[in-house]
Parts: sequence; C-alpha cells; structure tokens
Amino acid sequence: MSIEIAGVSKRFGEFVALDDVSVSIPSGRLTALLGPSGGGKSTLLRIIAGLERSDSGRVEIEGIDATDLPPQRRNVGFVFQHYAAFKHMSVRRNVAFGLEIRKRPKHEVAARVDELLKLVHLEQFGDRLPAQLSGGQRQRMALARALAVRPTVLLLDEPFGALDAKVRKELRDWLRRLHDEVHVTTVFVTHDQEEALEVADEIVVINEGRVEQIGSPDDLYDRPANDFVMRFLGPVTQLGDQSVRPHDLRISTGAAGRDDVTGRVARITRIGFEIRVEVATVAGQTVVVTVTRNEFLASGIDVGATVHLRIAPGSPTTAAVTGRPSVLEDLATTAR
Ligand code: ATP
Repeated sequence: MSIEIAGVSKRFGEFVALDDVSVSIPSGRLTALLGPSGGGKSTLLRIIAGLERSDSGRVEIEGIDATDLPPQRRNVGFVFQHYAAFKHMSVRRNVAFGLEIRKRPKHEVAARVDELLKLVHLEQFGDRLPAQLSGGQRQRMALARALAVRPTVLLLDEPFGALDAKVRKELRDWLRRLHDEVHVTTVFVTHDQEEALEVADEIVVINEGRVEQIGSPDDLYDRPANDFVMRFLGPVTQLGDQSVRPHDLRISTGAAGRDDVTGRVARITRIGFEIRVEVATVAGQTVVVTVTRNEFLASGIDVGATVHLRIAPGSPTTAAVTGRPSVLEDLATTAR
C-alpha cells in the first residue's frame, strides 16, 4: 500500500470535516476521492499533502510516517483546480521550476523538461507564456510541473473542474493514458461520479467527513454498500419497494409476465444516445426506464401505451438496494 490513512479526524472549530477516516490507497493506481461538495475530500487531500494538519490519526506515504512531515519533505506533486502559474515565465521555465530550485544541473533540467513537454503534448508551446495557453493546456502544464521532480504521489484537486465539458472529457481520457504511461500513485478529488467511474482504478466515496465505500468502479456501481453510494453513483428509480437503476429495467408491450408491473407511458425524452421512458404504474408510481435508441425503435412504444416492467434477470443492483438488511446482517444485529 502506498498511502495509509489511519484514524484521521479534522475539525474546523466545532465543525467536523473528517471523522475517523481510515483508507488504504494502493501504489501505482489512479484513485478518486469522490463525494458531494463539502464532504471533506479536499481536506483529506490537503492532509495527505501536508498542507493541513489532522487533529488525530496517522498518514503514511510509502511506508514512511509522514504525519509530522512538512509538504516539501513528502515528495508529493500537487495540482489545483485553478493552477497558479508563474505568469511572467515561459511554459518551459514553469515546468523547470521545481528542478531549478533543487539546483539540478542545467543539461539535466533541459532534458527532463523536453521529456515532460512531450509527455503532456506541449512540445510546441514551451516558449509561450501561460496566458497564451488554453485552460486545458494550462492544466497539462501544471501536471508536467508537478511530475518534474518525480514525486512518489501525485495529488490532484478537481484538476479539470474549471474547464468546459468537452475539454474536461478530453483531459480525463488523457489523464488515464498519462497514468498508464507513468504509473505514479495518483489521487484526485472529484464530485463528478461519471469522471470517477470513467477514469479511476479505485474510488473512495466520502460524505459528511466519513468514508462510505472503497472499491473499483464496478464494485461501487454494481454493489453499492448503502443507499447513499447507490444514489450518488448514478440514477435510481423506484419500482415497488426496490430502488433500481433505470437501465436495469426491461419494458415490453403485449401480455404481462407473472411478476410484471403494469403502467402507462407518460413521457418519452431523448438523453444523448439513450431514451428515457417515464411510466405511470397502476399503483401510482412514476418509474423511469432508460433504453437504447435501437431498443426503443424496435419496441414501438409511444406515449399512452400500456407497458409492462420487470427487473432484468441477473441485474447486479437489485439485491443490494432493497434497503432491507440481509440475513447475515440480521443475525449480526441480533447478536449485538
Ligand atoms: P468541495 O468539493 O466543495 O471542495 P470537499 O468535499 O472537498 O468539497 P472540503 O473542502 O474538504 O470539502 O471541506 C469540508 C468541510 O470543511 C466544508 O464544510 C468546509 O466548509 C469546511 N472547511 C474546509 N476548510 C476549512 C477551513 N479552513 N476553515 C473552516 N472550515 C473549513
């Protein structure tokens, strides 16, 4: 394990920003700290960086107790949402900065900067000033600068948060490829579940100062530990007394199956490449189903049609989200 957080708590006055957080962040992976605004993600990242001190607990980086180490002795690279570049220095000099203050020989700095500019696809832009770059290019420069000193850990706080959706998406893909190339242990903060699901190897869901769940994107999406994770990671709709993902429902016309829920199509909306069908059931619920465009066209469903709904067999989410404790949990509760 590369970063071990053990029993970390942090208060700001009366406010508990982190409440006894313990997390193991694996070496060489891309880990997302995901959660709603104000949940404590940035605070945890800043504690890992040494920019904030925890009130209690321990932070270990690559087997070294870093709890009391100042940021400059932790060998971490840091990139914030609004990257503070040196405005009057060229892109090259910005990237070289960390190496220059460490008094690395000139030829070594030049070679490393060339390598980094290539890595972040800015080799044509070395002589420009930061103001002459686009937002996305500036964040790539920030990453090159953070990587220059070969940090053990790269910490990114909403690195693409200030950019528009298209550039954000491009940079996400780029970050994934960059990580596959350099394999540096990377922790990034995001409140965007899609970003975390798409980019991260591991996701730590943080809410109200506590860790809700840790796992791979599939673990979290298909086997959410609780209702919060289920709802935070993606759309949920209610069918009877179950919460389910809209794309795990099957919709059909014609004869109803034995356990089907029958309703009438109330609304049809197109969202990107999917079709969202709202069904008003006879029990008075509004259930949302999403289907692909092709499935939709083949089904011939229209507003007002009578349809039947069922949960797709083998759908991974259904067991986890009923809100009822499993038999084992029941036993554990009784034992307590
Ligand atoms: P966001 O996505 O909005 O940045 P976050 O999950 O990163 O949210 P934090 O920035 O870690 O959340 O903040 C957690 C809580 O601690 C927030 O309620 C915030 O107001 C509070 N907080 C953070 N820093 C301070 C501070 N220096 N003084 C007082 N309160 C703070």
